[in-house]
Amino acid sequence: MLDIRYELTQNKKEKPDESALGFGKYYTDHMFIVDHTEGQGWHDARIVPYQPLALDPAAMVLHYAMESFEGMKAYRLPDGSVQLFRPDRNAERMQNTNHRMCLPSLSTEDFIQAVKALVKTDEDWVPHQEGTSLYIRPFVIATEPHLGVRPSATHQFIIICSPVGAYYSTGINPVKIFVEDEYTRACPGGTGFTKCGGNYAASLISQVKAHDLGYEQTLWLDGVEHKYVEEVGSMNCFFKIDGTVYTAPCVGTVLPGVTRMSCIELLKKWGIPVSEERLPVADVMKASKEGKLEEVFGTGTAAVISPVGELRYEGDVAYINDGKIGEITHKLYDTLTGIQWGKIPDDMGWTVKVD
Ligand SMILES: *Cc1c(COP(=O)(O)O)cnc(C)c1O
Repeated sequence: MLDIRYELTQNKKEKPDESALGFGKYYTDHMFIVDHTEGQGWHDARIVPYQPLALDPAAMVLHYAMESFEGMKAYRLPDGSVQLFRPDRNAERMQNTNHRMCLPSLSTEDFIQAVKALVKTDEDWVPHQEGTSLYIRPFVIATEPHLGVRPSATHQFIIICSPVGAYYSTGINPVKIFVEDEYTRACPGGTGFTKCGGNYAASLISQVKAHDLGYEQTLWLDGVEHKYVEEVGSMNCFFKIDGTVYTAPCVGTVLPGVTRMSCIELLKKWGIPVSEERLPVADVMKASKEGKLEEVFGTGTAAVISPVGELRYEGDVAYINDGKIGEITHKLYDTLTGIQWGKIPDDMGWTVKVD
């Protein structure tokens, strides 16, 4: 259990218009911080007014990207209460990331306590409109001023929150995806399975390239052979081919998404065959030509489920389901969002009340 000190703000900010929240534009009144010192462990947990950080310019995070992060949401229910979705999974994933990055971790219990305490403090920032939520961003940074490369002796674990709008303000429109065949995101033994800032820094160039070509996102192939599909930008990717739903195995190069895991559990419950065998991109393009590529969608906390309408690989383009959202894609979207926003009963035991 963390012993949290509260220093509440005297000047609450004005709340933004809930119909124009966008993503990551506004931040709530408070933030959570806890310090970590080698030999002492975690100490001085506190909720303080949202404010800039004071960091030494030599802080190791600024030079060697020694940081990790998580992404999760709090949802407003029809009865006005607030809940989280599988927060234990985010806590465990952050522990795995931190282990790989030589960063310290909070226990699952302390992580969830900190998230709940901050969401409770800023509860009136959890928006009410259809499809809106409070995005929660926990992160760890190495704060020791030191220019040599080695683990840091001091760290901070911080949580900030941002009210976010409905991802699909104009309805669910399928995205166009560019299959990246030059750059790679991850390779065996690397950091592909972690949520670390460095992965994103290294992936930006492909996103810019995809945008320049008129595509919204990049689909990454495996880093060794450039042959097997892995994931899309900040989403895991699913392909329904001839009745079976395929998604890349989480073997070190793919981020183990909480949404991915939840989709697999639902599909299995519904009796739909799921394969986590590696899937060659050539098989996807071939299935498209044979009329067997039935649905493609991405999964992630921000958009939940994102249908894919078009895939471009080298000179070839696959159009999926006439640019319409597929049946399984739709059912997963309705079920997950229904559970998250408390519109349908959570018979999977995935939600946790903030009280
Ligand atoms: C966060 C993330 C995902 C999605 O994970 P969720 O837990 O479902 O939000 C997928 N891929 C990458 C690279 C990510 O960073």
